[in-house]
Amino acid sequence: VSGGRSGTGSPAFALGIDVGGTFTKLAILGAGEQVLAEGRVATDAAAGPAPLVERVAVAARELAAGAGLELVRACGAGVGIAGLVERATGILAACPNLPGFEGFQAAASFGQALGLPVQVVNDANACALAEARLGAGRGRDPVVLLVLGTGVGGGLVLGGEIVHGVAGFAAEFGHMALAIDDGPRCACGQRGCVEAYLRSSHVVALALTIAARGQPPAGPALARALASGEATSRLVGEAARAGDPVAAAVFSELGRALGIAIANLISALNPAVVIVGGGVALAGEVLLSSARAVALARVVPPLARDVAILPAALGDRGGVLGAALLAFESAGPARIETGAR
Ligand SMILES: [Zn+2]
Repeated sequence: VSGGRSGTGSPAFALGIDVGGTFTKLAILGAGEQVLAEGRVATDAAAGPAPLVERVAVAARELAAGAGLELVRACGAGVGIAGLVERATGILAACPNLPGFEGFQAAASFGQALGLPVQVVNDANACALAEARLGAGRGRDPVVLLVLGTGVGGGLVLGGEIVHGVAGFAAEFGHMALAIDDGPRCACGQRGCVEAYLRSSHVVALALTIAARGQPPAGPALARALASGEATSRLVGEAARAGDPVAAAVFSELGRALGIAIANLISALNPAVVIVGGGVALAGEVLLSSARAVALARVVPPLARDVAILPAALGDRGGVLGAALLAFESAGPARIETGAR
């Protein structure tokens, strides 16, 4: 049987893992959705997936031990990863932001290293599940999520569950088109994708373009950062909140692009809420209020009636928490009750 496990002394818990371009986050979530432990390791994508899997396994055991738990007694692990994850196999089919990981057998590798059943999904899909259950989408359904960061991710939760599509690739909202045959170049090779407008590098590029016109002039802090090549989307967002006219012009233009993207999603899905997260969204209402106005003015009026357009509530923890929730979900009630494998 199972080495003296009574199944009563150990609280049920699941492991969440969120593989990002720079850091891989870990969290241990209790069955009551309380976070029992959190940590992170460097992703070091250039070294490939194998050393990362080892680092994660070591860190996960340490985290569990630190919380007085044995990792092998987790009811499972969930992994969110930036890329297209094949649902049936847990293989990473495409991942422009994790070069060298294409074809990575994520479910098999993590499963072997952790000794646990593993579910792998796209990171924004995991994030959408967490926002739906624990964040800005609580009590609303369907939930649509856009994550504006290095790339633009998307997620859709319907009836409380992630919509995966036929192979696991649903909700790639970042590659919906906003332009017919022009627009900025996207990482996918096309032009005019939502991602091409709303990823963090385009925020900086747009600030440079608008500042170069000289009218309106940038405030001194933003002008300095742009001239030194040290501007980031976060800094442009801060400048916008502080009233810098160039930064305000940037986010008003981005708000238009985001508003059209959101209008398309509202028309397709009639969601109860569209949640906007990621580093670019930290600009806050300066982006969201403009997007909201554009989106609601654009859709056929009855579609505007019941939809909220809200900032994400879980910050950069959505992916790791959603991954852990997914592990609980696929474990089934018996496994969660006993806390045993
Ligand atoms: Zn694209």
